[in-house]
Amino acid sequence: MLSAMVRTEIIKVKTKGSCDIVNITEQTAEAVAKSQILAGTVTLFNVGSTAGITTTEYEPGLIDYDIAAAFERLAPVNGPYEHEKTWHDDNGHSHVRAALLGPSLSVPVVDGRLTLGTWQQVILLDFDTRPRTRKVVCQIVGE
Ligand code: ZN
Repeated sequence: MLSAMVRTEIIKVKTKGSCDIVNITEQTAEAVAKSQILAGTVTLFNVGSTAGITTTEYEPGLIDYDIAAAFERLAPVNGPYEHEKTWHDDNGHSHVRAALLGPSLSVPVVDGRLTLGTWQQVILLDFDTRPRTRKVVCQIVGE
């Protein structure tokens, strides 16, 4: 009888902040390979409330311009934001953007591989206003 296994890895990601987009597909695939889990789900979860995770085609138009421009339309850097009155800081837009995007992503694992599309990459978006080292919990559940 097969029983489910759970493997948890921490992926550390250095970012520049200000809508920095980092491709974490390779680290995710490595964690899945290391787990030896062949069928299941990998969940990625960013610890912290000013960054998020999703997928995209990783090409310069989207990475250097389009995604940041869309978030600037949704939650402009120059608010105003009540959050900044609470803490006297400058990252109200960072929290709003992270809340809109969400902190986590699940990808099915089939035959030991991520089921991503040919041009689909896993990305972490850091919306904070300064460089950070992000901790992404990478948990693989399956058999
Ligand atoms: Zn803040």
